[in-house]
Amino acid sequence: MATSTEELEALLMQRSLTDSQLLDAAEKSADFRILPDATVIKVGGQSVIDRGRSGLFPLVDEIATVRKAHQILIGTGAGTRARHLYSIAAGLGLPAGMLSLLGSSVADQNAAILGQLLAKEGIPVVGGAGLSALPLSLAEINAVIFSGMPPYKMWMRPDPTNVIPPYRTDAGCFLLAEQFGCKQMIFVKDENGLYTENPKTSANAVFIPKISVDEMKAKGLHDSILEFPVLDLLQAARHIREVQVINGLVPGNLTRALNGEHVGTIITAS
Ligand code: ADP
Ligand code: MG
Repeated sequence: MATSTEELEALLMQRSLTDSQLLDAAEKSADFRILPDATVIKVGGQSVIDRGRSGLFPLVDEIATVRKAHQILIGTGAGTRARHLYSIAAGLGLPAGMLSLLGSSVADQNAAILGQLLAKEGIPVVGGAGLSALPLSLAEINAVIFSGMPPYKMWMRPDPTNVIPPYRTDAGCFLLAEQFGCKQMIFVKDENGLYTENPKTSANAVFIPKISVDEMKAKGLHDSILEFPVLDLLQAARHIREVQVINGLVPGNLTRALNGEHVGTIITAS
């Protein structure tokens, strides 16, 4: 049974915020999906946007059509320009928080570019989580574009071993999908999905259509097609219990994935 607001408030006033009874009571309050009909799609930075016309024009056309039937939140990756900035900043000894700010600026650039390409469709670029403009835009246009980097900025939680921000645009897009309780999370990249090895460098790579996070970790694939913290975020998620990674360079894949078809690799929480 759900805890009443009075009971919860009494506990919250008296106990520490890590008290187990308090946490149990808070957990009992019903959780609901804020945007249950929406799908978050992440358009890869290096894998798609950096390709320019060849990567983007067919995808933009597909988005223009498919959004008539599906509500989509389109997040952008950062890509090669971010890697260039990371190399300069890391070489200068700057910390992860600074690299996070630099990476955000590139994801912002990519959101601006996609915004120009989709402007004639009426699809706006929304700032931050964009909540002010987002519900109305979704209701009217069925789509928004957002910058994929999570807004941790200088408060980025650093990795203990290196200066690269661990939560980048895969994580940012995933967290938004989970926050809004969206229907699906689709990563649009440049390979058919996950392989046993990086298909760009290994001719023997075998395609894996479906895999769990634990299986991925057991196979040593946690640092491959998705930023590895996303796997832990997926296992801890309440709403988004699986994600699909698809090849956005193949026309029709995005439409099929939005229709619920299995066209890439499905990664499951359990
Ligand atoms: P994004 O542009 O979204 O940031 P990335 O370039 O970071 O995408 O990730 C996609 C890339 O991951 C693929 O182009 C591929 O080269 C690489 N990759 C590494 N290991 C694997 C693997 N085991 N299976 C598939 N892709 C892999
Ligand atoms: Mg990446």
